[in-house]
Amino acid sequence: MGRLLIFEHDAQVAQFAARIAENAALQVRTAESVESFLRVLDEQRSTCVLIDLSMSGADSLDIIQLLADRGCEAGIILTSDVLTSNTDPLVLDAAARVASARGLRVIGHLAKPFSATGLHGLLRQAGSPPSTVGILHASRPHPERELNPALLRQAIENCEFSLAYQPQIFCRDGRLSGFEALARWHHPVDGLIVPDRFIPAIERAGLMPEFTARIIEQAFSWFHANILSPPGGGTLQGSPSLSINISARNLTQPDFPEIMIDLCQRYAVPPRRVVLELTETSALDDPVLSLELLTRLRMQGFQLSIDDFGAGYSSMQQLARLPFSEIKVDKTFVATALQSATSRTVVKSIVELARSLTLRSTAEGVEDEATLQFLDFIGCDLAQGFFIAHPMSGKNLADWLNDAPRCSWQAPGAPRH
Ligand code: C2E
Ligand code: CA
Ligand code: CA
Repeated sequence: MGRLLIFEHDAQVAQFAARIAENAALQVRTAESVESFLRVLDEQRSTCVLIDLSMSGADSLDIIQLLADRGCEAGIILTSDVLTSNTDPLVLDAAARVASARGLRVIGHLAKPFSATGLHGLLRQAGSPPSTVGILHASRPHPERELNPALLRQAIENCEFSLAYQPQIFCRDGRLSGFEALARWHHPVDGLIVPDRFIPAIERAGLMPEFTARIIEQAFSWFHANILSPPGGGTLQGSPSLSINISARNLTQPDFPEIMIDLCQRYAVPPRRVVLELTETSALDDPVLSLELLTRLRMQGFQLSIDDFGAGYSSMQQLARLPFSEIKVDKTFVATALQSATSRTVVKSIVELARSLTLRSTAEGVEDEATLQFLDFIGCDLAQGFFIAHPMSGKNLADWLNDAPRCSWQAPGAPRH
């Protein structure tokens, strides 16, 4: 049974919340002071806590700090009273971010007066296990083995890198629009090593050309065999695209466009079906060469995406300078869009910017249905994230594609297929 602890200065709101939680079969306790809050937290072993942020700035931030110090794993619901308190919504947003940054499991943020349905939805989420599969991997680096150039070169030669594919869909109607290929390293001794660790090491070792060529060969071979000419004949509906991550280092290789064209011919992949995703555009060493290479690739039909948009410092400048066809909204804004008004505004502005530049917009980090609905509402073109599907091996993806209609995540009201 779930156990909720309420720390809310408005007695009526506390009662209202308690009634909703009890109806949802939760055991409820309330606290009036920081001291009683901590005592009840231990006694009750709360699985969820509701904290009134507008109670008193100092108290609520103190509580967040105390919960973080205790490694609290309860789901946290924050409430705030924007209308009657003097607290700026941006400050409340920042307080919610402090809680997340301190490792607390923030479920959501409710502005008072909130509805029973709003609270009920968050209580339900608090009860379900967090979607940590990807996060677990990402936040648990392997005990440091030094990734030296010789080791990396050997791993590339031994084909220790594989690819996971993550589907992307149209926000409008839930149809499949493509896949992003994400590299994985299966080290024979250390097991799985995440890209955030090995990509920078490969860049430093100057091995990006060899690495990218191997990755693209694997991705094209899979794409040709499973998507362009799937086993058993037929074709997939629409024309799903294949997104591949390239590094700024690849744009110091004058022959990069020729290599790409050659690989497309070898694996019979039309360049227009390929999206090249570029991050860290601020790190482009040679602005003239990179502009020339990207322009040549676009002229050959490749699509070009500016990845993690909103997170970099010079994204805007690069957007104006380079021939992008897609903007990918950084997942930190998308994943927090429901809790944070600021994130929502950032996502909406980026989607509008894409539209006014006639570029396609893709939001990554979509972790729940409500975010997908929000993205559809603001006119975002494509979505990608754990709610739709986790990145998966080519084999698992084949099963995923063959599965019965995956209607559960389709935008409500959208035509089903
Ligand atoms: P990215 O290009 O921004 O890729 C998206 C990352 O977000 C992936 O992490 C993916 O697993 C994760 N992700 C997907 N959906 C969700 C979600 O709903 N919530 C959250 N929190 N995360 C989600 P991954 O696979 O660990 O890759 C990390 C980064 O490594 C990539 O970020 C990309 O920049 C880089 N990378 C991966 N493969 C390659 C590659 O082949 N070449 C290059 N140059 N970089 C690569
Ligand atoms: Ca990417
Ligand atoms: Ca990204």
